[in-house]
Amino acid sequence: AEQMLQQAEKLSIVGQLAAGIAHEIRNPLTAIKGFAQLLNNMGQKEYTDVILTELNRIEKIVSDLLVLAKPQLSNFQTIDLQELIDSVVTLLNTQAIIYNIEITSLFQLANPLVEAEEDKLKQVFINMIKNAIEAMPDGGNIRIITKENSENQVVIQIIDEGVGIPEERISKIGEPFFSTKETGTGLGFMICQRIIKNHRGSIQIESEVNQGTVITIILPQNIK
Ligand code: ADP
Ligand code: MG
Repeated sequence: AEQMLQQAEKLSIVGQLAAGIAHEIRNPLTAIKGFAQLLNNMGQKEYTDVILTELNRIEKIVSDLLVLAKPQLSNFQTIDLQELIDSVVTLLNTQAIIYNIEITSLFQLANPLVEAEEDKLKQVFINMIKNAIEAMPDGGNIRIITKENSENQVVIQIIDEGVGIPEERISKIGEPFFSTKETGTGLGFMICQRIIKNHRGSIQIESEVNQGTVITIILPQNIK
């Protein structure tokens, strides 16, 4: 337990450091981007396109880091989980349609009310469903199932038919900056894990290469 505590402390110091750095980087970055855009408009496209693409990448990492390291003020409220999931599905449907993906949600909880941090939980679902979309370049179905298990815990599963994850890679997911995507930051999963842990829940990954991935989020009964 002591070791775990030490690890948690280490993480928060690293988090504070990351937030500080991210914050410091943001202003000069905005200035550089402005001038790069100016050059771009003046017709130096072959160079400035590369500069702008890479600047956008840095910007994405910085904003993810800022989210990650934000002071964790808890804001637990009674929320309607069904409404929350529906709103995320609506939000991501336009992106999904472009990739020929259909998102369906099956809600099997008798009582949809849970004690949770609405914005944070929303962020988790957005991250997870985005990962599912990004894993399915050729389209297909994403199913979201919300149910109760035998221990009265709330179980939310995000099931995709995407590229899947090789077994030896599963343990790497959630490590900061681990990403297999060209424009990925590798911070999404880590943020999700942190949020779910703060809800005293857990996340499981099951996957089969070329078959798809099942992300299972379990929230404890006592947050209901
Ligand atoms: P990012 O999306 O920026 O790459 P994440 O932390 O969200 O970072 O995910 C880390 C990595 O985990 C991804 O790059 C991908 O390799 C893998 N991954 C996550 N979700 C899925 C999924 N549903 N299907 C396949 N791979 C996934
Ligand atoms: Mg992601």
